[in-house]
Amino acid sequence: MADKRAERIARFIEPLRVEPGAKVRLGRDFAPQDHGGLRKKDGVELLRTGVELLAEYQQRLAAQDTHGVLLCLQALDAGGKDGTIRHVMSGVNPQGVRVSSFKVPSAEELAHDYLWRYDRSLPRRGEIAIFNRSHYEEVLVVRVHPDLLTRQRLPGPVDGPKFWKRRYREINDWERRLTDNGFKVVKVFLNLSKEEQRTRFLKRLDLPEKNWKFSAADVRERQFWDDYQQAFSEMLSATSRPWAPWYVVPADRKWFARICTAAILAHTLMDIDPQYPRVADAAREELLVAKRNLEREAPAGQPADPYAARHPSAGRKKRR
Ligand code: AMP
Ligand code: MG
Repeated sequence: MADKRAERIARFIEPLRVEPGAKVRLGRDFAPQDHGGLRKKDGVELLRTGVELLAEYQQRLAAQDTHGVLLCLQALDAGGKDGTIRHVMSGVNPQGVRVSSFKVPSAEELAHDYLWRYDRSLPRRGEIAIFNRSHYEEVLVVRVHPDLLTRQRLPGPVDGPKFWKRRYREINDWERRLTDNGFKVVKVFLNLSKEEQRTRFLKRLDLPEKNWKFSAADVRERQFWDDYQQAFSEMLSATSRPWAPWYVVPADRKWFARICTAAILAHTLMDIDPQYPRVADAAREELLVAKRNLEREAPAGQPADPYAARHPSAGRKKRR
């Protein structure tokens, strides 16, 4: 059954993946309005299935304690990153997840190499880490506003084509190192249309409980829409790699973006296929000794093993 689910998910997310080496042009290649032919009410059920799968696989990932997963979420303002994280991770054990949000770098962060702050937030083995914005801001907002580079105090010439090419390479190498050492990297771009962004900004202005989310800076940033589309397109082309692919998720319908993101993360976990550790024979002998000792402690009139008495099939399940 697990294989069937894995196949279905793989087929579902296939059209969203940026083929390594492909030259992406966002406006031409990916439509923010897509919804995979689904209706919102099918979406509720599908998201629930996705969330259940994630819970199951996260438990196995944590128990195996060998691999970690890094999910990078990128989007333009009002793209739906926060809501996606809230919904997609709603079923998982909070102990196994760490979410990090990246804002304008602090003085402490700027005193280090640009990848330092992302390095510090990487997952441990057994964990899923989510980057709400990520090291990709270093080739997005920084690319659109290269004056930000001054504060990074870099040696040598910056902001030429060679400089950005080098940054893509450094990012690819960094992710490659993580992958080779047991940490899967998966990247999701929530692809929002300009008109849907306008609608969401207006919603933030119209509803008092949404006002706090509104920032005048976001509206100013909207003037650079075309520059961002260009920076995103180049970044997707240069950094979707076989070991760390990009997925472009249509984000105009929030419910659809959430299903896609859950499916992409589930696919990543199923690909790792983490297994519960098996207890070695010597350790199993110890378990049996402990069991016999506990059974001998049974008070008069009580079953030796109350749990087994209540669950007659316990302990007889076939082990994988
Ligand atoms: P928000 O996610 O809405 O809280 O906004 C965070 C802000 O931090 C955004 O405007 C980003 O563009 C900005 N930001 C994130 N990473 C960087 C970075 N590396 N350099 C400069 N600005 C950044
Ligand atoms: Mg914002």
